[in-house]
Amino acid sequence: MANEGLIETTEKLFTRTRFREYRDWARMGIYLLVTGVFVFLCWTQKLDRFENIVLDNFIKRTASHRVHPSIVLFKISQETLSEIGSWPWPRRYHAVMARLLDEWKAAAVLFDFTLEGETLPEDDNDLARALSRVKTPLYLPLDLKPQKERKFWVHGMPVVLDKDEGKLKWVHSLPEFEEKAKAIGHRKLVSDTDGILRRFDPFLNDGNETYPFVALPVAFDFLHKPVPPAAEWNRLADDQGKIPIPWTCKWDEGFVYYNYADLLHSFYAIQRGVSPMISPKEIAGKICLVGLVSEGDAGVKTTPLDVSYPVLGVYAHVINSILTGNWIRPVPRWINCLCLLGIGLLASFFFLVLRRASSLLAGLLLGIGWFLFCFLMFYNGHLWFTLVYPILLISFLFVFSAVYVQITVTREKTQLFHLATRDGLTDLYVIRHFRLIMNQIVREANMRKEPLSIVLLDIDDFKKVNDTYGHPAGDLVLKKTAAILMSYIRKNRPFREIDFAARYGGEEFIIMFRKANIKDAALVAAERIRKKIESAKFEWEGKTIPVTISLGVASLHPGENIPDPMVHRADAALYEAKKAGKNRVCVEKN
Ligand code: GH3
Ligand code: MG
Ligand code: MG
Repeated sequence: MANEGLIETTEKLFTRTRFREYRDWARMGIYLLVTGVFVFLCWTQKLDRFENIVLDNFIKRTASHRVHPSIVLFKISQETLSEIGSWPWPRRYHAVMARLLDEWKAAAVLFDFTLEGETLPEDDNDLARALSRVKTPLYLPLDLKPQKERKFWVHGMPVVLDKDEGKLKWVHSLPEFEEKAKAIGHRKLVSDTDGILRRFDPFLNDGNETYPFVALPVAFDFLHKPVPPAAEWNRLADDQGKIPIPWTCKWDEGFVYYNYADLLHSFYAIQRGVSPMISPKEIAGKICLVGLVSEGDAGVKTTPLDVSYPVLGVYAHVINSILTGNWIRPVPRWINCLCLLGIGLLASFFFLVLRRASSLLAGLLLGIGWFLFCFLMFYNGHLWFTLVYPILLISFLFVFSAVYVQITVTREKTQLFHLATRDGLTDLYVIRHFRLIMNQIVREANMRKEPLSIVLLDIDDFKKVNDTYGHPAGDLVLKKTAAILMSYIRKNRPFREIDFAARYGGEEFIIMFRKANIKDAALVAAERIRKKIESAKFEWEGKTIPVTISLGVASLHPGENIPDPMVHRADAALYEAKKAGKNRVCVEKN
């Protein structure tokens, strides 16, 4: 009999192992699914706003403050405006500036303002004359503005729609000024949705004409090279064709700045023979960027390094990158997706194969490793690999794996406990476990002085059942008897048992009734059970097997804190019942 129970238990364990293998496959499938979802998110760039934050931080950490010495900026700041007068200035001021920078041998001049609309004819003539005489190449920006705004009326109020979506048109400087310019270019800079400026368009097109970003001709002319065509910019571009700006310094930190007013003062100082604030030597051979920097007038943007940054500095940064060859190179999307897939597979493998602590360590190492790789690639090669998606994927897989393992371990523990404490045939407690419970409960009952009774029962003439109907029929009788016994067990719903039943031996059972004195246990419960078994129909292959039981009842005596004497008394009572003719309940003798 014992062997059969063992075989059954072993079989259960084998089934569980097979099941576990199957479950591992299911788990791997879920990991792959999660990885697939992340690859999809990466491909569709759903979490790029977080990726941008990482890029901002990388830029902050790696900002070199190294700038090309050939770039100088002339700020038309709030102080200059209050000194010289409010904007727009008469064009003759620009004429003076153009003459001056030419005289001081600047390599290039970029005026960061459009010269649209006629002003006083003498001023216009003055500037036109100045521009035709200067040898220093001059660069002018163009603005791309909506030609018409779409308006509709709500309660008599105009609401503007599609301000930037409608047909666009370039805002040109007057032809006589543009003709004198070496090149013209656009200066449209669009911040990301979080308000931070991170990229520029190398070229813009209004449907007819294409213009480069105004800083490009300035820098490439300086290098005596043609501006590379749009296709060549692709290797630096992100998926929207925009070029990340490699911010190297904060406004007012890296580049050389002069006040416009100081330049004018220096010019007049030299004419008067006084020593100037700015020496012409500081300007000779330099690219000069002239523009407004006062807030409100200068298209001030937020960058990863600054809260407010005049557009003039953006030109400086782009020119600096062209002169130094220092660019951020976003890794193509498909390579990022491939890396993500690899990381997902590796993490899945770790979390599937390794135990919990080591899988946490492996996940951590994988995450830290990828972070370091991304940072070093950015630091050394300015290569920008995706970081957010892999880190999120690893974390997600780890949390999923930890929760999954926790649930399975708990379930397995419960199942193992059940296997270890229950009899394979009848599903009642095995006697070993029952004894542990009984010892504990007897101690408690003794302490609290609560009554406790046990009923020991044995199937009458069971050998005959086996002999007449066969062993399987005997098993059936055991099972059904156990089921009937269980129906007499009181429970604290839904799980906690009040009474306990166990298989005591081959066809012997024991029940412990808590808080029950001998009268309750013997006369009520035991007698009811006996009658129930006697009247129950045990059918086997169409034949009814007559089954009766004999029961011995005993209860805990005052002062007893171990169950053995009580069990002996119940055993003796059972013996009495057998002797008296079976199918009856006998109570312990005092
Ligand atoms: P009595 O009325 O005096 O108890 O007579 P009995 O025939 O029941 O005598 P006994 O208690 O000695 O017989 C126990 C029998 O129970 C012997 C054994 O073959 C049978 N048995 C024990 N375990 C199992 C089991 O797991 N399955 C089956 N079918 N029979 C079992
Ligand atoms: Mg028997
Ligand atoms: Mg027996």
